[in-house]
Amino acid sequence: MKLILLGPPGAGKGTQAAMLVERFGIPQISTGDMLRTAVRDQTDMGKKAKAFMDAGGLVPDEVVVGIVRERLQNADCDSGFILDGFPRTVPQADALKQSLSALGKDLDAVVSLQVDTEALVERLTGRRSCGGCGKGYHIKFDPPVQDGICDSCSAVLIQRDDDQEATIRNRMDVYHEQTAPLEDYYRQDNLLRSVDGMADIAAVQDQILRTLQAD
Ligand code: ADP
Ligand code: ADP
Ligand code: ZN
Repeated sequence: MKLILLGPPGAGKGTQAAMLVERFGIPQISTGDMLRTAVRDQTDMGKKAKAFMDAGGLVPDEVVVGIVRERLQNADCDSGFILDGFPRTVPQADALKQSLSALGKDLDAVVSLQVDTEALVERLTGRRSCGGCGKGYHIKFDPPVQDGICDSCSAVLIQRDDDQEATIRNRMDVYHEQTAPLEDYYRQDNLLRSVDGMADIAAVQDQILRTLQAD
């Protein structure tokens, strides 16, 4: 299964990707996670990316295209992968096409999660993630058993720096200007599968599985 999860910030890409990883045993490739790791480790790439991320803008295409190209060559992608947060621009989508065709691979589907802007803001301001294992939570919609503590590894939950209301607004604008055109892009390739992302987490998962089985 070779998939792209498309959708605005807070649509549920990471949440759904984690469930699909379990189900299909294929890796999640999250450019956001990879970039945050690079920022944390203060690598050259992380130093380049940090200011863009803090402002809620996009990291330059050549940076993310390079990390995804390399990642897709890894043997764990042989039986499939879930791209989460990539591509985010038309040039990134073009570059992905080239990388995949060089590897003799084709995408199976692009699942696009549809969520209202108001709901997105509530999801992002309430989003938390585990500082230890990275597991995602929401203070209202997907809370841990014990406040502020990860169910899986008991580490403390943290809030992302860019999940502040001012930055969120900028990320939404960037999404509409630069990423939303990818819906038409993949519709033309006959790969687009729209899913109602407003339902609860389990119901969205069911819909995704159903749309994938319909292929
Ligand atoms: P993305 O990766 O698209 O930015 P996330 O998967 O991180 O989105 O989800 C954003 C926040 O919304 C998280 O706190 C997550 O727990 C919560 N969330 C995800 N899916 C749903 C849903 N269907 N209903 C309510 N909250 C959700
Ligand atoms: P979200 O879960 O809110 O959709 P991500 O974790 O995917 O956010 O991305 C966080 C930030 O990392 C983005 O705001 C952007 O600065 C950067 N980023 C992630 N993926 C890409 C990409 N494909 N192209 C450019 N920048 C990216
Ligand atoms: Zn944890």
